[in-house]
Amino acid sequence: MEDELSRTVDGLPGLVWTAFPDGRAEFVNRRWCEYTGLAAHEASGEGWQMAFHPDDRPALLESWRTIVASGEPSEAEARIRRFDGAYRWFLCRASPILDAVGKVVKWCGINTEIEDRKRAEDALRAHEQRFRLIVDCLPTRVVLFTPEGDVFHANRHTLEYAGATFEELNAAWTSWIHPDDRQAVVARFHASISSGEPYDAESRHRRADGVYRWFHVQGFPLRDNLGRILLWYFLQTDIDDRKQADEHLRKSAALMAKVEELSLSGSFCWRPASGSITWSEQLYRIFGIEPGTPITREVVAARYHPGDLHLLSEMIKRAQDGMDVEFEYRLLLPDGSVKYLHAQAHATRDPQGRLDYIGAVKDMTEHRQSDDALLALRAELAHLSRVNSLGALTASIAHEINQPLAGIMTNASTGLRMLSAEPPNVEGALETVRRTIRDGHRASEVIVRLRALFQKKAVTTTSVDLVEAAHEVIDLLRSEIRNRRIVLQLKTADDLPPVTGDRVQLQQVVLNLLLNALEAMNGVDDRPRRLLVKIERDDCDGVALTVTDSGVGFDPQHVGNLFDAFYTTKKEGMGIGLCVSRRIIESHGGRLWASSNAGYGATFSLSVPYRTGSTIAADLPSAMGQARCTDAARNVRNP
Ligand code: ADP
Repeated sequence: MEDELSRTVDGLPGLVWTAFPDGRAEFVNRRWCEYTGLAAHEASGEGWQMAFHPDDRPALLESWRTIVASGEPSEAEARIRRFDGAYRWFLCRASPILDAVGKVVKWCGINTEIEDRKRAEDALRAHEQRFRLIVDCLPTRVVLFTPEGDVFHANRHTLEYAGATFEELNAAWTSWIHPDDRQAVVARFHASISSGEPYDAESRHRRADGVYRWFHVQGFPLRDNLGRILLWYFLQTDIDDRKQADEHLRKSAALMAKVEELSLSGSFCWRPASGSITWSEQLYRIFGIEPGTPITREVVAARYHPGDLHLLSEMIKRAQDGMDVEFEYRLLLPDGSVKYLHAQAHATRDPQGRLDYIGAVKDMTEHRQSDDALLALRAELAHLSRVNSLGALTASIAHEINQPLAGIMTNASTGLRMLSAEPPNVEGALETVRRTIRDGHRASEVIVRLRALFQKKAVTTTSVDLVEAAHEVIDLLRSEIRNRRIVLQLKTADDLPPVTGDRVQLQQVVLNLLLNALEAMNGVDDRPRRLLVKIERDDCDGVALTVTDSGVGFDPQHVGNLFDAFYTTKKEGMGIGLCVSRRIIESHGGRLWASSNAGYGATFSLSVPYRTGSTIAADLPSAMGQARCTDAARNVRNP
């Protein structure tokens, strides 16, 4: 029986041993001896210690002493040297054998090899360490959570950012989230943990110094082969700078939109190569198109006024050639309204050399309408000014018409007489009829000229002989001049070039100046009433006309007011003649000014250029005409 037991113990697949209650070895089995290469007697007492790795020995002995002292079963791990000198890990289990009163009478134990498990554990530990090292060194915040949602690991960056230990973070990680974001974050987090769906959201997290910064947080579950979640890893990317830039961009876009709204303008980007077009919201509004609608050439063309569609093709053609473009065109909106737009686009090239256009479109409709209203008002004023002068011409006109009428009457009665004579003087009667016709023509010519001058007529631009035009006006005033005992002197240079402009408007100015001169000499009795009209070249490519009178003159202090609207010193005056006249002359690219004479009276002078005629001809607008010469040019021309 003893033998059998001994054989069994020897055959057990472990290193079996017994020890005395004080811890000294009593027995080791055959396998123990075979494995360690030590004889049984070598192992007895304290000798067994020789089989253990010197590094493990102090800890092993310490724990063996504790076990012996406690009298409780226990275990320890240590490396045992094999007979060939190789150390392998063993789990050494010890259990006390007690007597009837519970006193330890012996210790028995078995050491089982755990080398493979130990290696696997080491490998896992090394793996984990490497993993932690990588996670810790990642330049971003990483927090690992258990499948249940507890913090498992927070990398160095996370702890440094939060200014907290792992334990503090573990205890209350949500308290680092901005109070306004917390509720949503917690709800989303739990939704992900319970559903296994990845987490993806932005939230603000508190830094060690108390500042909150925006993070993009992404959480992914790590699953085993069976699809069970082993771990959650959460990446937190700092997007605060981007957020601020976004905010900045949003603010400047809002500002830009406001500016566009206030200035009634919109903007666009256009890449001709790809055809991609981006419009600002305001531009959509100007075109009356729902914001966000994809912009194509067809969409744009559908809004163009049919009469201006050719401008769109022209603009596209110019743009494809890489030129800057600037156009004025009209839109015809579905409700039938017309908008006037001014578009300007500047070409740039991207690094690949592709063309990019950045442009602005301004809605000129209101501007245009007020311009039109202004033009209409000025035309009305100009007409009023002419009609106003009609009164002053009445006597002259009556005389001009009376003369031929009197002639007609005389001729008609002479003719009657000649026809009723016996025999009738047919030859003589024919002559009187011819004279009657001639006088009739004369009267109607006067009327035609008057009508031309006082009719409301659209402005026409032609080549005007200023001498001839001035003569016509003077002719209308001749009898008036005579009646007022005024000595008229007319000096005109030969071979004056024609000026380009509106004949009636220019005549109106001459008429205004002459009537003013006549009126200025009304009360003059102590000196000759002289009127000098001179037409000659001036020294800057123009034709100058001056009207000099010997009238009352004006206070040089008021020379600046003479051309103001409604400035008058006359009882019945309206004060619009000179104001309208100056506008007319300026619209011809010329200037009109006044000066006091050395002796008595005043001189009013106008000058109209003849060499820039083509510019004026092209630019002279409809109705009353608006100054289109550049400010620079006008400054040069007007004193
Ligand atoms: P109105 O003749 O109705 O007063 P105008 O605009 O033609 O309006 O003239 C404005 C003012 O300029 C006149 O009231 C007058 O004071 C002054 N003025 C115009 N022409 C002369 C002139 N030849 N001599 C003196 N003053 C003049």
